[in-house]
Amino acid sequence: MGRVNPALTAAGAREWLQRFATAVDEHAAELTDLDRPIGDSDHGVNLQRGTRAVLAALEAADPPTPGAALTKAGSTLVSTVGGASGPLFGTLLRRTGKALGDSGSVDGAALATGLRAGLDAVVALGGAQVGDATLVDALAPAVEALEAGGSAAEAAEAAERGAASTDDLVARKGRASYLGDRGTGHRDPGAVSIALLFAALAGSGAGEGS
Ligand code: ADP
Ligand code: MG
Repeated sequence: MGRVNPALTAAGAREWLQRFATAVDEHAAELTDLDRPIGDSDHGVNLQRGTRAVLAALEAADPPTPGAALTKAGSTLVSTVGGASGPLFGTLLRRTGKALGDSGSVDGAALATGLRAGLDAVVALGGAQVGDATLVDALAPAVEALEAGGSAAEAAEAAERGAASTDDLVARKGRASYLGDRGTGHRDPGAVSIALLFAALAGSGAGEGS
């Protein structure tokens, strides 16, 4: 039993995604700046387009369960974001949502199981492993923290450390990999966004720990 407490409800999932959208708005310029030296300067703009569409889709659909909310958010990201991050973030949320099933309230252990399914789908889609300087470097440790019974705040810290670890890595996937060794010394923007996603979960009150 994880310490994501209180359990995640449909309203909690909506609040999580709302907080993520707000964080993406606040950090859009920074995310785009991180994407400048190693990519094509569009990560913040890409995610912002996606999260705004997610909020509109949730407003229209009013999903009854946390699983349905995350599934809806994921499909919306896949269909509205053209960059690599849309299919990857979208797959993460959609697969996590599907794994949560139709339960109205999801505890920490179930959320960890769902996010593990999401992480596995991201790895299957993008082919990146930990150490390849992608968003997987933040996502994998965050999921592991929840699986170990940690709070959402602890998962957010793990994601943050994972994002920082990309500073010294050579990118092996995505646009940054085109630079080879010249790509080191830069933090991966997608990993920073994943840290924002888990910080938003912690901030939503679903992860205050017990
Ligand atoms: P694009 O690279 O198409 O411009 P974005 O700039 O929105 O898309 O997103 C870039 C981020 O996507 C990278 O910082 C990295 O974290 C992530 N990414 C790219 N390719 C992969 C991959 N194959 N596996 C995992 N993450 C990836
Ligand atoms: Mg880009």
